[in-house]
Order: sequence, then C-alpha cells, then structure tokens
Amino acid sequence: MNDHYDLIAIGAGSGGLSVVERAARYGALCAVVESGPLGGTCVNVGCVPKKVMWYAADMAHRLDDAPGYGFKLAREGFDWSELVGARDAYIEGINTWYHTYLADSGVDEIPGRARFVDAHTLEVDGRRVSADHVVIAVGGQPSVPDIPGAELGITSDGFFQLKSQPRRVAVIGAGYIAVELAGMLRALGSEVSMYLRRQTLLRSFDPMLRDTLMEQMLADGVNLFPSTQVGRLIAHPDSVELFCDQGECRGVFDQVIWATGRTPATNDLDLHNTGIQPDDQGYIPTDLYQNTSVEGVYAIGDVTGRAPLTPVAIAAGRRLADRLFGGQTDRHLSYETIPSVIFSHPPIGTVGLTEEEARAAHGEAVKVYSTRFTSMYHAMTPHKVATAMKLVTVGAQEKVVGVHIIGPDADEMLQGFAVAVRMGATKRDLDDTVALHPTSAEELVTMK
Ligand SMILES: Cc1cc2nc3c(=O)[nH]c(=O)nc-3n(C[C@H](O)[C@H](O)[C@H](O)COP(=O)(O)OP(=O)(O)OC[C@H]3O[C@@H](n4cnc5c(N)ncnc54)[C@H](O)[C@@H]3O)c2cc1C
Repeated sequence: MNDHYDLIAIGAGSGGLSVVERAARYGALCAVVESGPLGGTCVNVGCVPKKVMWYAADMAHRLDDAPGYGFKLAREGFDWSELVGARDAYIEGINTWYHTYLADSGVDEIPGRARFVDAHTLEVDGRRVSADHVVIAVGGQPSVPDIPGAELGITSDGFFQLKSQPRRVAVIGAGYIAVELAGMLRALGSEVSMYLRRQTLLRSFDPMLRDTLMEQMLADGVNLFPSTQVGRLIAHPDSVELFCDQGECRGVFDQVIWATGRTPATNDLDLHNTGIQPDDQGYIPTDLYQNTSVEGVYAIGDVTGRAPLTPVAIAAGRRLADRLFGGQTDRHLSYETIPSVIFSHPPIGTVGLTEEEARAAHGEAVKVYSTRFTSMYHAMTPHKVATAMKLVTVGAQEKVVGVHIIGPDADEMLQGFAVAVRMGATKRDLDDTVALHPTSAEELVTMK
C-alpha cells in the first residue's frame, strides 16, 4: 500500500475498475477505493443478476412454447431459492475473480468509503491517500419517493435479495428497470401489477417499441395502471396495501417494488472540499474528456448523469486512461448513437434517433420503414409474441439514423446494426447486404 498514487478511482464498479485496469497497463501506479463488493451495481445488483433472472423467465416462456413443437412436458414447479442460490454463487465467483485480477494488474484495493479532504486527497476510514489524478466513479443508488409507507416497498437492490418468490407484486415505475422486473416476475408466475405515473411505459423510446411492449405485457397478463400516482402504502401482517392518489385504485401485495429512478452517490463525498459543484440532482458535470471543473479530477459512469449503462462507463474509463497515460491526447468517448437493450419479454434493441426525434430535427427529410410479423419460431407456439422493427432514415441518401427492434433475439440482433449506424450506413447499404435466411434479422435488410 502507498500513500500517493498516479491515479485513484473512487468506486470499483464498471467505470472505476476499467480506468484503473487500463491505466495500470500503461504503468501507472493505481488504487481503487470501494465500500461494497467489487464490480459495483452491474455485477452485484444490476445487469448480471438481472440477466440470470431474465434467462430463467425466458426458459419459463420456452417451456410454455414446447408443446407447439410436440413436446409433452410434465412441469413440476420452479424453485426460486435454487435459482437465486446459483445466481449468487456465480456473482461471488465474479467478485473473487476481480480481487485476483486487480492484484495481478498491480492495482491496490482500498476497502472503505472515500470522502474528499481536498481535490487530490481522500480519507478512507481514517486513512489518507492522495493521487495526481482522481476519478469519481461512484455510480448511484435507487431512489424512493417521499410518501407515507414508502419504506414498506423494496427497490431493485431488494429484489435481488428476495429469497422466495412473491406471489402478488406491484411494480411502480415505467422505465426499463420497472419493465424488466415486471416481465421476469410475470413469466415466472407472479401476479404483477404495474403503476405508471404517465400514460405509457418507456417514454423516451420509439412509440413503436413501447406500444408493442405494452400490448405484449397486457397479453401476458400484467395489469397495467397508466396515469396513476401511488399515494401511500400501509402494512398488514402478511402484505402491503397500496393506495393511489386519485380514484379508487388500491391493491394488496406480497411485495411492492419501487423502480422510480436512481440518484447519484455524491451525498457523502464532501465534494465541497474540491470546488466541484454538482448539478441540482447531484450529478457531476463533465466536459467531452470526462474532466470536472477541477484540474486532475474526473468523473465517469452513472455519476455524470449521461447514458447510465455499463459499457458507457467502461468505455469512458478506458478512454480516459488512454488519454492520461497512453499518449492519446484527444481520446474521448462520443456519447452519440449509443445502443441499448431492454431485457423485457420480448427484448428490445434500439440505437439512434426515435422517429419523433428525427422528425423534430429533420422534418420532411425523414423516411421511416417498418414491419411487424410473427417470427417463424412463434408460428408454431401457442403463446404468440410479436416482432416489430423500424428503420428511421434521413435525406436523399436515406442515411439510417435509428434502428428499433422488439421481438425474440432483438438483444442479440442489434449490436451489428449499431456498428452500421455508427459508420453512417444508408438504406441502400442495408438493401445491398445479402440476407441471412431464415431469420428475423433478415427483415432489416429487406424492408420496403
Ligand atoms: C437493476 C439494474 C439493471 C441494470 N441493467 C443493465 C444492463 O442490462 N445493461 C447495462 O449496460 N447497464 C445496466 N444497468 C446500469 C449499470 O449497472 C450502470 O450503468 C453501471 O453499473 C454504472 O457503472 P459505474 O461505474 O458508473 O457505477 P457503479 O457500477 O454503480 O459502481 C459504483 C461503485 O462505487 C462505490 N461507491 C460509491 N460511493 C463510494 C464512496 N464514497 N467510496 C467508495 N466507494 C463508493 C459503490 O459501492 C459502487 O460499487 C443496470 C442497473 C440496474 C440498477
């Protein structure tokens, strides 16, 4: 252990781990401070456990589909605690691997909660350490609204601690985390009600995606309560009762899950000792190069309030290290055309402008191609799932500025199309690409 480093990252999540690992490869002396398990949100209470649960839910759907292919299956139930045990063991393996990886990379781990003493000095559980470069990569945590009884509900963090499956669940929220939790619980057999403050789910996504998903969720038996504000929760011996602000809406649940947003973990950093002024929501403003307003102090990942996704935090961290220690003076992350996937049932893959955004920016120059069909897989199954796709193009060249897909395998389909959009592909480029047959993806290169 040293008292002074070339670079210290606060937070060993997606961003913090990436920046120290890359910087250490360039020979920088690095440390990472972490108050929880290594891996941060994504590994412990985000992408990884979520995807394991999604696979289980997907498997439940496939078991429903199996009779369509002639299988006579006897279903003998589903053991939530067995799945959770296997999932947690998998995550523990990742945590252990990170310890070894940091040691092998020559990065010091400093366990504990960091706060700034000054811009280049941190105090971690009474010990002081300093660095020429300090990277704030503290991520965020779920937020819960300030209403009576709010503490009776859990958040996504609490969802991943559930040791048994709740039978009746209310999910409050309309963003991707709400949609994912509701979809997997429903597929695994819970009765699920979703309370949305506005009329639709996934408000910032293309309307085709959200409309198709809402239809599918309703068809799959999720109770949707749009334009509903939850007003209070009341505890009963074995349940929680939910009351809405307006009307007669109420319900009794075994579990209420808040999926109403996240806040940056900047409250206890003592940022005032650095001169950095967070914005009114607590996010740390950064420029194109992840610089904060104070020299030698940077912020990456969710704490910046920009594109809160794991690959974004990783890419920003690696590029920052390339710039600081790799001699690549202009290296930075472009936040344009970042693809994303939602692990709903079916999944969504999306990149670029929605139709609404494109029309607002380019008006009449926008041309949209869309299609909707039932995939060959679902032609045979009793449980039908729609696939819908949209290409948003602009100008005489029909440059593809948005690709939106919902349907089985949309998550795996999107990555290559994201490359094409980033490279400036036109509709003609897609048309000139020979299709893969028979697949759903081929529709994206054969749209009329
Ligand atoms: C339920 C859920 C599902 C998600 N699914 C996906 C997905 O499918 N795909 C995707 O790309 N993204 C997903 N995300 C988002 C993804 O997890 C985040 O974008 C990513 O983890 C951000 O990385 P980060 O490094 O900014 O912060 P984090 O991963 O949150 O890491 C921050 C770390 O800093 C530590 N810390 C905070 N304050 C201090 C302090 N003062 N001192 C020491 N340590 C501190 C925390 O303990 C934490 O470990 C999901 C998130 C959630 C909640």
